[in-house]
Amino acid sequence: MEKLKYERPVIKKLNAGLMNKFGTRSEYAPVTHIEGVSVKGMIEQYGSPVFVLVERQIRKNYQNAVRAFKTRYPKVQFAWSYKTNYINAICNIFHQEGSWAEVVSMFEYQKAIQNGVPSQKIIFNGPEKTTADLTIAIDGDSLIHIDHFDELYELVELSEKLDKKARVAIRVNMDTGIYPMWDRFGFNYESGQAWNAITKIMASTHLELVGLHAHIGTFMLTTSAYAIAAAKLSDLAVNIRHYYHRPIQYLDLGGGFPSANTLKGSYLSGADIIPSIDEFAEAITNTILNYGYRTDELPTLVLETGRALIDDAGYLLGTVVANKRLSDGRRATIMDFGVNLLFTSFWYEHKITPAQEFGHQTEDMVLYGPLCMNIDVVRETINLPLLHKGDHVVVHKVGAYNMTQWMQFIHMRPNVLLIDTKGETHIIRRNETLETINSLEEMPTHLKNFHL
Ligand SMILES: *Cc1c(COP(=O)(O)O)cnc(C)c1O
Repeated sequence: MEKLKYERPVIKKLNAGLMNKFGTRSEYAPVTHIEGVSVKGMIEQYGSPVFVLVERQIRKNYQNAVRAFKTRYPKVQFAWSYKTNYINAICNIFHQEGSWAEVVSMFEYQKAIQNGVPSQKIIFNGPEKTTADLTIAIDGDSLIHIDHFDELYELVELSEKLDKKARVAIRVNMDTGIYPMWDRFGFNYESGQAWNAITKIMASTHLELVGLHAHIGTFMLTTSAYAIAAAKLSDLAVNIRHYYHRPIQYLDLGGGFPSANTLKGSYLSGADIIPSIDEFAEAITNTILNYGYRTDELPTLVLETGRALIDDAGYLLGTVVANKRLSDGRRATIMDFGVNLLFTSFWYEHKITPAQEFGHQTEDMVLYGPLCMNIDVVRETINLPLLHKGDHVVVHKVGAYNMTQWMQFIHMRPNVLLIDTKGETHIIRRNETLETINSLEEMPTHLKNFHL
């Protein structure tokens, strides 16, 4: 008998579109307005697609996070993670609320400076800081978070050369029970590498160790990982106090709290499974408070929360381009936005709602973007009312990372709007035009002309 051919097994989530524990319909009401502003009106005035951010929601998220930590711990400082969304108007909302800046490149550093953040209130993270970058950061008394030994040695050299004290912290990676471990950034705790780095800093006359930093991962679904991180940082801090008789000024627990988005493949929706910011605050502050610091030497708790503060304040408004049937009979709907603008659709199942009244019939469908590229899929399967050419949709919770990871591929980037707390709409980033793109290009003389 001939041997049967091997077929690769595939596991697919079943989306029957029939009764499930959440009911038969995934959407019940159209979203015609955001903060009282008409979706259709915004698209008419500012084009489609268009990003919309809601100032009231950003401030609410921030104030809620500050309250969660400050009611449990006396010294708390947030630093806005620029890479999460570095549109200046957005950064300034956080700075108005009292947030410092957390940057991972000189480009972001300069953005923070130009926004008016004092250089002493910039936390400079990341694995790549050039000699020029480090010089500027030392000169500006910024908080330099060291990633590896080569950077540490360069800082020793530079600070001596500049004859200036550099304020530094080390980034520490560790086993927090979450795998794969993020051990590519910073110095490892368990192997003793972090302690080695500390001893080298303490031996230098020009480096001042002011803090200890950990950013253990992102979209963390367990609070216990933060308790472990806080304990391991505290262990280092207590040892520094013991051996060098110097208290550590701050512990920086990084970012990584999840937003209410739904991760791909998750059975329950994000909002149903993520711990609240209060639960994270409880885990972190209990650990630090119970660690045995002297009350007058309690370190400031720094947080670099990104996505959890902004994701649900961002929307993408778009328009249906066309419908078609795929060869297997599935309905496919093509939108005027795709992975060029929604990088996060690679790992989230974004909630998408029609922006106008719709009929009763729904169908499982694939949502494609407008790119001439096979992987441009916004949702592999979504149950929606039947949308028609020209209909508008609202994509929810897109405030984090999309406006920094977007691509100018095939299409240029669209307008970004802010609805302020009075319901007024502002453009905070203009759409790109052909001039924007061409202004960066140069044409060698011999290529200027052609005849076809
Ligand atoms: C990206 C990043 C953050 C923000 O992470 P979120 O998951 O968005 O909260 C904070 N700190 C560092 C060092 C980062 O790289």
